[in-house]
Amino acid sequence: MHITFWGVRGSIPCPGPRTVRYGGNTACIEVTFEDLGRTLIIDAGSGIRDLGNAMMAEKTSQTSIRTDILLTHTHWDHIIGLPFFTPISLPDSQLTIYGPATFGDNSLKDVIGWQWSYPYFPVRQEELASCIKYVDLAEGIFDLGDSIYLRTKYLNHPVLCLGYRIEHRGKTFCTVYDHEPFRNFFCADPDNAAYQDDMYRQGEQAAAEENQRIIEFSRHADLLVTDAQYTGEEYSAGKSGWGHSSCEDAIALAHQTNVRSVALFHHDPMRGDAELDKLEAHYHRSSTPGGPDIFFAREGIKITL
Ligand SMILES: [Zn+2]
Ligand SMILES: [Zn+2]
Repeated sequence: MHITFWGVRGSIPCPGPRTVRYGGNTACIEVTFEDLGRTLIIDAGSGIRDLGNAMMAEKTSQTSIRTDILLTHTHWDHIIGLPFFTPISLPDSQLTIYGPATFGDNSLKDVIGWQWSYPYFPVRQEELASCIKYVDLAEGIFDLGDSIYLRTKYLNHPVLCLGYRIEHRGKTFCTVYDHEPFRNFFCADPDNAAYQDDMYRQGEQAAAEENQRIIEFSRHADLLVTDAQYTGEEYSAGKSGWGHSSCEDAIALAHQTNVRSVALFHHDPMRGDAELDKLEAHYHRSSTPGGPDIFFAREGIKITL
């Protein structure tokens, strides 16, 4: 299994001289199984545009592009590249788009498809030449064929969002981003009039159970890609509840789950290369011997599991 990062940013693309080395594209990860000739794509942020171009460069008149696109959720930074993914406009492309079904009366196809409407884009969804199949996902285990197994887990984000765990021939790749640790939202101060002891205890227990489920989901992955949009200091200064983790939370998760390596991901668009270098050096220094390999995800790196 090979993992290639095509976009590592959260929120909004941020190209420019400040982001040349880590990259300025939003979330997109390619998972290839070279012996099978199969590719899965996790998220369709702006990074999927270059991935599509790379797939086009390899395509011949005898081959067609078939791929599975797993959307963690439908926030813009995870879908904005899809209209610019060239294979989607080819009549011989076959795409299966998976994502969480969370939108009341609106299907995944509608929520994604709104991007192809005239106020936003010059082509309508009905006019796309490729064959696109949409699959709504909930939590579960799915057999994707060729001994590729997909496990999904709901994360803690302001919209329903899925973590993905892909297992193939003894190797495990796992994503847990657009996520922050579950917390107890009930009042914790016994001197406050709103405090209710039983509610507080229930909240503590529910948060602990949910966090334990995330640990079980990520356990022993060969590579965990996890949310590290903020530093601990930034998170404590008003970012709690925004659906993203701190680097400290991400590293704690990597230790709790005994993963082999952890890629800190979903970098804040405000963060330039120099600052990411500094943070990477800082978190490396604080890592323990024998613990997971900790690094900040960069656009263009390819990891073999
Ligand atoms: Zn995001
Ligand atoms: Zn999001």
